Amino acid sequence: QTPILTVEKLKKYYPIKKGIISRTVGQVKAVDGLDFSIYPGETLALVGESGCGKSTTGRAIVQLDPPTEGKVVFRGKEMASLSGAELRKARTDLQIIFQDPYSSLNPRKRIGDLLAEPLLAHQLAEKSEVSKKVDDILEIVGLNKYHRSRYPHEFSGGQRQRIGIARALILQPKLIVCDEPVSALDVSIQAQVLNLLKDLQKDFQLTYLFIAHGLGAVKYISDRIAIMYLGKIVELAKTQDIFKNPRHPYTQALLHAYPIPNPHLRNRERIVMEGDVPNPANPPKGCGFHTRCPLAKDICREQIPGLTGTNHSVACHFPVG
Ligand code: SF4
Ligand code: MG
Repeated sequence: QTPILTVEKLKKYYPIKKGIISRTVGQVKAVDGLDFSIYPGETLALVGESGCGKSTTGRAIVQLDPPTEGKVVFRGKEMASLSGAELRKARTDLQIIFQDPYSSLNPRKRIGDLLAEPLLAHQLAEKSEVSKKVDDILEIVGLNKYHRSRYPHEFSGGQRQRIGIARALILQPKLIVCDEPVSALDVSIQAQVLNLLKDLQKDFQLTYLFIAHGLGAVKYISDRIAIMYLGKIVELAKTQDIFKNPRHPYTQALLHAYPIPNPHLRNRERIVMEGDVPNPANPPKGCGFHTRCPLAKDICREQIPGLTGTNHSVACHFPVG
């Protein structure tokens, strides 16, 4: 199968500036060399603690914040090489939804106008068809045409996320980056929005890159999971393999943080992380996880472990299991 999207050696570095003349004194390697592919119709989850670079990766993929280095290849073409009509098409095909849709919805605009905006901006509909398309998309995400004349503040958090989804979906994208779309919602609403995303994926043959800070949210929605730590992928495997046979000490620690008891881990050595995530502006030498890893040995403090293995890849000198 041919991937719909491939990311090659993706890097995003930010300069650290200091003083009144903004002298550059270093750089933060927010995303530090990612390689992965996403296949048509699948959901790949990107999981890690805040600051690990997962949102930055999502924003780089949809070209909101283009990468410093590396390639984003979408449907066989490198994004950086596109221009004109091809670039506009790729930009509508790649959409993103955010954790807090409220902040991306202009509070002074009615929902009908907020949904019409992307259609008109991308010249994807004649003026005469716009209102029909808006009504249709509202129906599809579980709202209705009477919501068109309302303002964002008149909706609940869950409804606002439905509007955020509608705004992305109205452009008929192929791939949607879902950046923690349910993290800010009440637990009772989370399942509804996840089910909506699942249904839409089936009905519209969508591919998702689903970003989350914990494994709980992605267990039922993802086909594969990539675990990120300090700008790097440390483990990538099918969802069931991540849960049944986690091989990276960090993945094991994340699973222990997951509140539902995991019977598959009962007989394993319990891996508990020590300390906090290091400052990404000053990452540890060698394996980025060595400062918190109870299994760390001398080599871990010197050499960066590469991500190896084909179906279940792991970046660790002493993988578990
Ligand atoms: Fe721990 Fe070493 Fe593996 Fe890093 S390489 S996760 S420090 S055992
Ligand atoms: Mg984030």
